[in-house]
Amino acid sequence: MTKARRGRRRQARTGAGAGTSGPAREHWRADGSPKTRFPTAADANRASLRFRLELGADLDPYQCRLCSGWHLGTHRD
Ligand SMILES: [Zn+2]
Repeated sequence: MTKARRGRRRQARTGAGAGTSGPAREHWRADGSPKTRFPTAADANRASLRFRLELGADLDPYQCRLCSGWHLGTHRD
């Protein structure tokens, strides 16, 4: 009567996800959630300016190779 076996292992470690390098890294945050996506460069630019004015955050828009949208990211060394 018990059907408690869910022993299906997915191979979700390949491709998109946190902790990977390459295009996936442009799309995901460090905690594994997707970044905010802007449909055009103009949208991303506008958001970037707004963050700078309101929060003093220095975020640069870049086009994501994973979803072809735009994200904002920091450039720190
Ligand atoms: Zn993306």
